[in-house]
Parts: sequence; C-alpha cells; structure tokens
Amino acid sequence: MEISHIEHIGIAVKSLDEAIPYYENVLGLKCYAVEEVKDQRVKTAFFKVGQTKIELLETTDPEGPIGKFIEKRGEGIHHLAYAVKNIEGAISEMESKGVQMIDKAPRKGAEGLHIAFLHPKSSGSVLTEICEDKNK
Ligand code: ZN
Repeated sequence: MEISHIEHIGIAVKSLDEAIPYYENVLGLKCYAVEEVKDQRVKTAFFKVGQTKIELLETTDPEGPIGKFIEKRGEGIHHLAYAVKNIEGAISEMESKGVQMIDKAPRKGAEGLHIAFLHPKSSGSVLTEICEDKNK
C-alpha cells in the first residue's frame, strides 16, 4: 500500500457557521467548499493547508455518526484520512493483514473521493479513512 500524504483531517463541529470564522479569521484559511454528503448525514466545509485539507463535519441528523460522536465525546478531531494510490488494492492488503474494515468496498465521499474506513479497533482507536482521488 502506498500512502502519498494526509488527505484530510476530519473535525466534528456542532455548527459550521460557528466554527468557520475561527479557521478563516484566526488561522487565515479560506473555506473553499461546503458540501452535504447525504450518505454520511453530514454537511462538510473544506480548507486547504498545503496538500492536506481540514474537513469540518456538522451532522444533519442527531442519529448520524457525527451526531452520535458529538453527543458522546463533544466537538473535536474525528478522523484522519490518508491518500492512497489504489484503494481497492489497499483494502485487500489491509484485510489480508487482519485489519477489520468498516467499508469492505470503497464508497463515495465528499469531493468525489472514493473512501473506506478502517475499524478503530484495528487502527489504535484512531478512526482512520483511506481515500483515492480517481480524477487525478
Ligand atoms: Zn473524511
């Protein structure tokens, strides 16, 4: 498996409207996209930091994964996403190494990426995503 860089860091927030000003006014980053990902019941806001992005996640459903995360643990870092070259190959390689995958096949994430999550039991309790930009 070949990881090229950290694609993004996912951060759970209660409200994009309340969170975005910190990133823009304090850190001086620019929110370049806001997108709803229905499948994951979230609204996302993106900022670029070099090759890596910050992905803010606001739930659109209290029962969704981000809604439950915030209820249990509050706002904060939710997951790390690594960019890989061949996501199908990476998934089979990890399964062959005994990694428990939440997604056994890639699904569509924000920005048209193909994504798959590892189970935190297999990734040292850090919710980990791998993703591939097939448009590149
Ligand atoms: Zn993500």
